[in-house]
Amino acid sequence: MPELPEVETIRRDLAPLVTGRTIVDVEVDPGTIHLLAGVPLETLRASLAGRTIRSLGRRGKYLLFELDDGRWWVAHLRMTGRLVWRPHAAPPEPYERARVVFDNGHDLRWSDLRKFGTWRIHASAEEVVGRLGPEPIDAGLTEAQFRRAFEGRTAPVKAVLLDQRRFAGLGNIYVDEALFAARIRPDTPAGQLSRAALGRLYRACRDVLERGIAHRGASFRDYVDGQGNEGRQHMFVQVFRRTGKPCYACGTPIERSIVGGRATHYCPRCQRPARRPQRREAGRAG
Ligand SMILES: [Zn+2]
Repeated sequence: MPELPEVETIRRDLAPLVTGRTIVDVEVDPGTIHLLAGVPLETLRASLAGRTIRSLGRRGKYLLFELDDGRWWVAHLRMTGRLVWRPHAAPPEPYERARVVFDNGHDLRWSDLRKFGTWRIHASAEEVVGRLGPEPIDAGLTEAQFRRAFEGRTAPVKAVLLDQRRFAGLGNIYVDEALFAARIRPDTPAGQLSRAALGRLYRACRDVLERGIAHRGASFRDYVDGQGNEGRQHMFVQVFRRTGKPCYACGTPIERSIVGGRATHYCPRCQRPARRPQRREAGRAG
């Protein structure tokens, strides 16, 4: 599933191509039921055709196309969505479900094997991004603010990181990688993490997301960038989908379990089970 680094890579690819361009038509495969959530194609076409794209932004895993009438076309790739730029005459993409036709002979092609991706028109971007927490890479997110999201919580730390209302943009790949980098077991109750562990996690979340962007995303299965090319981050992962393979740090086989309903990968030696923070540690921390 595309996460912040994958969606950001697509945004960076597509922004210079679509900004200032005018949409002339929209085509959607009628079998693609989730995409429009029951909104008739004619309604979507009326919202998009003739509109010029002012900007392409991103928050969390959402792509935000700002239209010249002040409204927003918001796309979410969900599990297997792809959005690539192609000449109008190019053959259809594999699993192509929809296309947005532009005034310069190019399309945005929407492919989606599993068909869970969504397109919505919103009167304001706030309707979408207002529900999201800060991104771990936000320059303004302090370590103290980051720590507060975990205080007193009994949910596994992994579940807190995946909750887009707490932090936007992280998904299964980057959470497993960040928890490995911070040497934290994914099922640790969030409220039991020491101040030092949360400091490591704060830095690890930023680090794994920035590396993911630098490597243009992770192409384990379906993800491609805005030109249809794979990213390279999957070649650099430490634990994700490395079950049974030796940990790069200590040689112990990577284990797989289910945490918060999600397949989870960790090193049982580098990521020790939680111990409750010692009273004296808590005192020092304050
Ligand atoms: Zn290890």
